Amino acid sequence: MPVTVVVGCQWGDEGKGKIVDHLAKGVDWVARYQGGANAGHTVVIGRRSFVLHLVPSGILHPRPRCVIGHGAVVDPSYLMEEIDGLVSRGIPVEGRLFVSEGAHVLLPYHRWLETLEGQDVRVGTTKRGVGPAYTDKISRVGIRMLELLQPVRLRRRLDEHVERVRVLFAAAGQTPPQPLDAARDEWQATLSGLAHRLRPYIADTVTMLHEALARGEKILCEGAQGTFLDVDLGTYPFVTSSTTTAGGASFGLGLPPSSLRRVVGICKAYATRVGEGPFTSELPREEADALRERGSEFGATTGRPRRVGWLDLVQLRRAVQLNGVTELVLTKLDVLSGIPQLRLCTAYRSNGAARPHPPVDTEELASCQPVWEDVAGWEAPLTGVRRYADLPGEARSYVERIEQEAGTRLKLLSVGSARSAVVPVPTRSR
Ligand code: GDP
Repeated sequence: MPVTVVVGCQWGDEGKGKIVDHLAKGVDWVARYQGGANAGHTVVIGRRSFVLHLVPSGILHPRPRCVIGHGAVVDPSYLMEEIDGLVSRGIPVEGRLFVSEGAHVLLPYHRWLETLEGQDVRVGTTKRGVGPAYTDKISRVGIRMLELLQPVRLRRRLDEHVERVRVLFAAAGQTPPQPLDAARDEWQATLSGLAHRLRPYIADTVTMLHEALARGEKILCEGAQGTFLDVDLGTYPFVTSSTTTAGGASFGLGLPPSSLRRVVGICKAYATRVGEGPFTSELPREEADALRERGSEFGATTGRPRRVGWLDLVQLRRAVQLNGVTELVLTKLDVLSGIPQLRLCTAYRSNGAARPHPPVDTEELASCQPVWEDVAGWEAPLTGVRRYADLPGEARSYVERIEQEAGTRLKLLSVGSARSAVVPVPTRSR
């Protein structure tokens, strides 16, 4: 049974949570492969809204079991809070959620280090310590979930880390927010309590997923953030610290690359970006304010207003290539109703020449100008539309133009936050 990967084609916030929720009802497993509590998915079910940061949104369906893979970094207290929050709202979690014993643990000092290094300000992070936790992992000093269950070993590892933190603060000429010896004792006590409660969730998820593959079960891998926040392929250094692109599902979960045969790319009908970094199709302030309000473009994790722009087809084409997108979903099309004229960015102009591909050099990207194509808008609201033929002609022209440029099949439109607000795109429309 081929594995499905759901991946964002922009800078995150494409509405992946809703689409994962839509696809999850037919699958056996939903697995998260990277990132930490810096990502946020919002899923609206009837009158209830769930914001999930670590737990895959598949948990909201009764059938799938959920995995947080070793490619993610896990703040144990945050995870416990999220589990308790779900349970208090009637969602059963134990026996359905499994966290890789190889996932790296995010500890309070990671948040301190983020501020100490000024990284939070430079690249506009969510200040949740995710970057320093990945730094520890790559530097081969990280603490993994399995160590939480071994108190003596954990104590030794915390001792090592406290010494590192001491040296880093001393080198910066700063005092840690808390005396380090007291902090270590407090962390040890907190982690022991959490380890006791989290024990049923910590598992060998690689074996679990391979057994599921062998039984022919359906696995859906859920990407957090988006393609252009990928640490290698995004707009470096204005990126996150993990592999957000579809390939990350392979090494973040231990699934063979050959099993990832269906890649669902999620793209918003316009563009948004949180934090710093180049944004070629960004709208000027006043227009951005209007579109931001219509689309409620405020961060699910931080509440920060998102930067807003027109859809960037240069970026979308690259996202389709990088992820091997086999089918595209266009979200939030309803937000564009009532705008008389829409724009698409079809190419970049740099030093007087048009370029169809984004440059690797982020400084060069920042100097690129958008080449626009104007497209007629439509008046009618779309939230109630369920059949492709019932969309206004201009809306069909808009999405068909996007499909043509993207070079992959557009399969689904999302026209509202409700679970039911989706419009399948028939093959014959092309
Ligand atoms: P994610 O991180 O990619 O899941 O995106 P977010 O959760 O940050 O943003 C998605 C937001 O848009 C959520 O509040 C969703 O309920 C909402 N949403 C998703 N799809 C649609 C849609 O088609 N139309 C509208 N109006 N809202 C949507």
